Amino acid sequence: MVRSEELDVIIVGGGPAGLCAAMYSGRGLLRSVLLERGVPGGELLNTEWIDDYPGFEHVLGRQLADLMTAHAVKFGADIRQETVEAIVRRDDGIFEVATAVGKVYEAPTVILTAGGTPTKLNVPGELEYAGRGVSYCAVCDGAFFKGETVAVIGGGDAAVEEADYLTRYAEKVYVIHRRNQFRASKLLQERLFANTKIEVIWNKRVREFKGGPQGLRWIELVDTVTGAEQVLDATGAFVFIGFQPNTGLVRQHVEHDPNGYLITNDRMMTSIPGLFAAGDVRAQLTRQITTAVGDATTAAIAAEKYLTDRRSRLESKAQVGV
Ligand code: NAP
Repeated sequence: MVRSEELDVIIVGGGPAGLCAAMYSGRGLLRSVLLERGVPGGELLNTEWIDDYPGFEHVLGRQLADLMTAHAVKFGADIRQETVEAIVRRDDGIFEVATAVGKVYEAPTVILTAGGTPTKLNVPGELEYAGRGVSYCAVCDGAFFKGETVAVIGGGDAAVEEADYLTRYAEKVYVIHRRNQFRASKLLQERLFANTKIEVIWNKRVREFKGGPQGLRWIELVDTVTGAEQVLDATGAFVFIGFQPNTGLVRQHVEHDPNGYLITNDRMMTSIPGLFAAGDVRAQLTRQITTAVGDATTAAIAAEKYLTDRRSRLESKAQVGV
């Protein structure tokens, strides 16, 4: 086991929240590292076009990721490609962050920006057309389907609410659900049934997404009761069948909501002192790039204040001990 150099803050995850936290930590002259298992960018790398980030009317997800990475590095971010396996807070208030290569990073603060993963259908064509018709975020991608026909897959609150949202842009929205009733709240269902642009297709599962060089063209469905097959023309497919925040890395009890999202105070600190959370791991109303970087800004500045307070407390204790 190799122990790290002395650090002030360890940032876990290199999506927009992590990169923003690294930029602010650098500006605050904190000794920090950002640990990311892949290429920095997070969900930006799964998004073709972004047109809701202020100042960028139309930017490629990959391009915004590169710009955010370069910006963080300019202010001194130390980005290391390592997979974090566990985060534990010791009794002396120092966090140990263990990575897959057997290294342990130590610091009094951790900013968890590990994001989350939309649950996948795991059907043929899903990966191939991801970002070219298949999407997991209506707010991010809905506007690209103006006047087109799209399908939403799922029957929970997210699917039902986002289907309604998508009718702002799409001419027609099909909702494909594997059963004959939704699990979404009654209020959201009422809104959906009142929307004339929406048609619900009950008892169907997606067998395959198909298309061509231009992207998704149609969806092959199978009836979950009769086994009958159906082909649906759609240029967009929005999959909302659940989302898992990557919060399992924290090995101690940390307060979370029923869906596993971490609860923070207004400084983005979790129930574990010194552990901050920003972006998709955090319980909040919405999950956008803008909210992720907002959270991260607060978390990095709050971490700096936490470190100052901690240092003063330790110095006072040492003086009393003299
Ligand atoms: P969810 O409530 O777990 O619903 C997932 C839906 O996807 C279910 O209808 C489920 O079908 C379906 N599903 C799951 N796996 C599937 C598969 N492999 N193939 C096809 N369909 C599949 O997830 P969610 O809608 O993302 O919501 C997550 C949580 O966030 C919930 O607690 C929800 O209340 C909350 N939320 C709230 C709001 C709001 O209040 N406005 C908005 C969004 C989310 P079955 O029903 O057959 O299991």
